[in-house]
Amino acid sequence: MPEPLLSNADVQHPDGWLDAHWMAFSANREFKAAPRLIASAEGSYYTTTDGRRVFDGLSGLWCAGLGHAREEIVEAVGRQVATLDYSPAFQFGHPLSFELANRIVEKMPTGLNRVFYTGSGSESADTALKMARAYWRAKGQAGKTRLIGRAKGYHGVNFGGISVGGIVGNRKTFGQAVEADHLPHTQPPNGSFHKGMPPAEAPDGWKGAALADELLQLIALHDASNIAAVIVEPFSGSAGVVIPPVGYLQRLREICTAHNILLIFDEVITGFGRCGQWTGAAAFGVVPDILTAAKQITNGAQPLGIVVARQEIYDTFMEQGGPDYMLEFPHGYTYSAHPVACAAGLASLDLLERDSALQRVRELSPVFETAVHSLRTARHVADIRNYGLAAGITVAPAPGEPAKRPWQIAMDMLRKGYYVRYGGDTIQLAPPFISTEAEIQSLIAALGDSFNATA
Ligand code: PMP
Repeated sequence: MPEPLLSNADVQHPDGWLDAHWMAFSANREFKAAPRLIASAEGSYYTTTDGRRVFDGLSGLWCAGLGHAREEIVEAVGRQVATLDYSPAFQFGHPLSFELANRIVEKMPTGLNRVFYTGSGSESADTALKMARAYWRAKGQAGKTRLIGRAKGYHGVNFGGISVGGIVGNRKTFGQAVEADHLPHTQPPNGSFHKGMPPAEAPDGWKGAALADELLQLIALHDASNIAAVIVEPFSGSAGVVIPPVGYLQRLREICTAHNILLIFDEVITGFGRCGQWTGAAAFGVVPDILTAAKQITNGAQPLGIVVARQEIYDTFMEQGGPDYMLEFPHGYTYSAHPVACAAGLASLDLLERDSALQRVRELSPVFETAVHSLRTARHVADIRNYGLAAGITVAPAPGEPAKRPWQIAMDMLRKGYYVRYGGDTIQLAPPFISTEAEIQSLIAALGDSFNATA
């Protein structure tokens, strides 16, 4: 039996109690041998079932930037469950979803002003891809179906998302359902240690806009008349916070516009504050045709995803003709526009505004950047990247076991009371917006010790 990381000694359960739950994105065998159970959360800390406090170095899964159990969100959710816990999402509405859509549009880049609701980031990705295909069909260009993603991109786990997604481990088990191509990744070579936005021109053939020109090769191969959309994250989160070089997204935008291809930004991580702006689009100065988001909209307290489209896209659907009872876009989920999720979304937006959370992210980011890059000299550190309140640290692989060290480091951190994410060959950090400077410093100091303590 491996030594339990957290004793959970007070949890008395019969043998086999953990068996029934087949856990998501988890090593079930490892977990069930040494379970890590969280009992509660408040602010930037979890409390485990054996009463230990753990700093939330990833804001949940990049979603709880405002901290946990915020009173205003708790109250809004409770009130909404008591008032209207569910409302049919098809052919019926409730006021909150319209109110929230208007509030969301205020935060979006100019021109993105029609909000479609889903229940998650994965559903938002698949909705955006279906929307893109249906848009071209409605415009009489049904041949435009091909989708293009980016190597190392992550767009959730549904079939559309894994087809355009470029994280090999998430797809190789399941295959590809939708025909898709991938742009080469934009990761700088290990050892580049870029702070914030990497420059347009860098060594080793890794050059800003020139990387985006790879899209022209795919257009030459397939012809733009067969391509519906390109989907990218402004910066790739799950790949380990990979920030594209200056000029990359701008050039993608130019090429997509010139060839009538829709540009989709997956802002499930970058949206609603983590970049210090409402969107990655605003932070990077590029406006897509369709933008998806989830996670931080409700501060993680309720599942909610959105797909925000340009008005012309919406209008194209509305102008298709046919009887007025016809569905313009035959797509949606039982939990689209869920009233409790909308209530949590409105309360979270209120708090983001009231607490000047974006301003706080902008103030804390340089402190975070300096602290994270101080790890440069720690053992096994191969590269470090950061943007806003997000950072990825590439871990040099142990011989024959490329994924082991990041896991060991994350588990060592947990023993010391810090939660960070390991993914592929990286450690990922996304501390809450409400973190203090002292908390950031102690998180990074502990992480440096964990790197150095790992064989
Ligand atoms: N897109 C991106 C960019 C993400 O980071 C994630 C989740 N990490 C998703 C989509 C999927 O979101 P969900 O897990 O809510 O389906």
